[in-house]
Amino acid sequence: MGISLPGGVTLCYLPANMLEELYQEIILDHYRRPRNKGKAVPTDVAYKEYNPLCGDEIEITAHLADGKIAEIKFDGHGCSISQASASIMTQQLQGKTVAEARALIERLQLMMRGEIPFGGREMGDLKALEGVLKFPVRVKCCTLAWHAAYEGLKKGV
Ligand SMILES: [Zn+2]
Repeated sequence: MGISLPGGVTLCYLPANMLEELYQEIILDHYRRPRNKGKAVPTDVAYKEYNPLCGDEIEITAHLADGKIAEIKFDGHGCSISQASASIMTQQLQGKTVAEARALIERLQLMMRGEIPFGGREMGDLKALEGVLKFPVRVKCCTLAWHAAYEGLKKGV
């Protein structure tokens, strides 16, 4: 038994509310120590998105090489969910081909609309975003960065 995060190791024996706390911790950790914050140089992709409902602002920049995302970063400010989601997203998209990245973004958007179920622990930190589904008004915060990346990648190719 025991807890081991991130990386998706054993989480059994934990009651649901403790699991939730762990996922909240992941969100807070990304908020406090954002990964890949700044600007990707050279900048092949740049797209800014704004969420007037909450005041969140995110700019995604990426450097593409050989059809892959060599580097992806985010910048901006806003609520913990918007910033943490952007941080988690950059981790997930780094090194993927543009096609793979777009497929993952589409999947995330379907999950956040409740149209397909979330995956399991193999999703890593991405799984932490599932908790946002319980707060429909925050879903836009969560998908903001993903939408910006999607639109940016569309233009950047
Ligand atoms: Zn927000």
